[in-house]
Amino acid sequence: MTSPVLDIQGLTVRLPPHADRINAVEDVSFTVGAGEIVCVVGESGSGKSVTAHSIMGLLPPAQLTPTAGRILLEGDDLLQKSTAELRALRGDRMAMIFQEPMTALNPTMRIVDQVAEPLRLHRRLGRGAARARVLELLGRVQIGDPAEKMLAYPHQLSGGQRQRVMIAMALACDPDLIVADEPTTALDVTVQAQILKLLTRLVDEAGAALLLITHDLAVVANICDSVLVMYGGRIVESGPVDEVFGDPRHPYTRGLLEAIPALDEDFPDRHLRAIPGSVPGLGEFPAGCPFRNRCPRADAACAEMPPLAEAGGHLAACWHPHL
Ligand code: ADP
Ligand code: MG
Repeated sequence: MTSPVLDIQGLTVRLPPHADRINAVEDVSFTVGAGEIVCVVGESGSGKSVTAHSIMGLLPPAQLTPTAGRILLEGDDLLQKSTAELRALRGDRMAMIFQEPMTALNPTMRIVDQVAEPLRLHRRLGRGAARARVLELLGRVQIGDPAEKMLAYPHQLSGGQRQRVMIAMALACDPDLIVADEPTTALDVTVQAQILKLLTRLVDEAGAALLLITHDLAVVANICDSVLVMYGGRIVESGPVDEVFGDPRHPYTRGLLEAIPALDEDFPDRHLRAIPGSVPGLGEFPAGCPFRNRCPRADAACAEMPPLAEAGGHLAACWHPHL
């Protein structure tokens, strides 16, 4: 058996004082293997982006502090790395694709120079070799007329083209791990589907591991191998996507799935709907199970946090799972 590319165990990230709970992410454990696509779903504020930024070493240090756990990339603990060591890994062995390419790209730099940057930094390519590789990468992400487009500035491209550039940059040095945080949310629905198809195909060809955060449950159902459902900083349910969506055990997952009429590709609005109640506000997350003040099954037992444990074939953190 080969060991996973990414192996996170017990990750806990503390929030600043006076936040709505103590930890942004609490006791999160999961793995992503080479060639595997793991999706993360959950309402806004559930800790998805904080998990992603923890992996990449991009947490704002004054506000968010990892206090426990390990993040192993090919066996190396990223939480033990210095800022300089993390900078050397980003863009090389691991890469991130952000939600809004306009803010992630430098508006004053031509596309060719931005995509070339990781190649020059990590692969020490000279100007000519880097340009040739950029041209090849822009072709791979199917940007029309790459020789002309690479001379453009980000604002001269469409949203979809900018996201293709981000994918080209992420793939530039053949990373082992790609983390994509809602990479298509800012785009038109038709463009979203094209970009996700491209991303998953290229990641598959590269044999990389992909951690994909998305709001779109149909995307999860169609492209992921396994799914992590997050709520209140915790993984509340996880397992192979067919099992978790086919037989949801946690009342929260059930609520998410029932809030959309069908996981149908033709359904016009495939985004997460609100489930009854809303994510608690400042100081309102209950002790114990974070979902208990919205949960139809909650009782006194739920004042204690249930462990993420086997429940009908996969994992759920619930004292009263649907079995
Ligand atoms: P998601 O990506 O699932 O919508 P996040 O991971 O961004 O959620 O946020 C998880 C929690 O951490 C939320 O309570 C959010 O308010 C808090 N948080 C995120 N970033 C910061 C920050 N820079 N400073 C303080 N709190 C933050
Ligand atoms: Mg987020």
